[in-house]
Amino acid sequence: MERFWETKSLDEMTRSEWESICDGCAKCCLHKFIDDDAVNEATTTAHVQAGEVIHFTNIACDLLNTKTCSCTQYAKRTELVPDCVQLTQENLKDIFFMPPSCSYRRLHEGRGLPSWHPLLNRKKKTAMHKAGMSVRGKTVAESEADLDRFEDYIAIWPLEDID
Ligand code: SF4
Ligand code: SF4
Repeated sequence: MERFWETKSLDEMTRSEWESICDGCAKCCLHKFIDDDAVNEATTTAHVQAGEVIHFTNIACDLLNTKTCSCTQYAKRTELVPDCVQLTQENLKDIFFMPPSCSYRRLHEGRGLPSWHPLLNRKKKTAMHKAGMSVRGKTVAESEADLDRFEDYIAIWPLEDID
């Protein structure tokens, strides 16, 4: 297979090339919160300013199939979940909302694709799950979480990345 991700920028990719860069880890389907020292309470993410930190939690969107790590309502996702963050070639400026291991973020930062990426593993997610780089087995469903105590769900593992 042509390693198009090594010769093209994210901007230059075709739609199907762009789609195939997504590793399907589902870390972007986790709830995230902004922590700002200047504000007493953490807020849900919409915008991030300088000095603010994004915390990931292990709370997953209810529409996520946590075994396959895929969206059960992919076609209607932005309609059903208004704050579903969809990274596109048009909103690359929002890439910092993504976890460090996000394949788009890796390419954007010049770090290349990791060895566990599906494109390097016959389009299968097995190597990614085995490397512990997806959300499989680590989440609690949004409908079962106590969102008033979101700080109890803050997780470090979504920030991990391995080559
Ligand atoms: S974090 Fe990035 S690579 Fe992983 S599923 Fe989300 S968009 Fe795809
Ligand atoms: S709607 Fe689908 S893609 Fe969006 S956060 Fe939920 S599970 Fe993920």
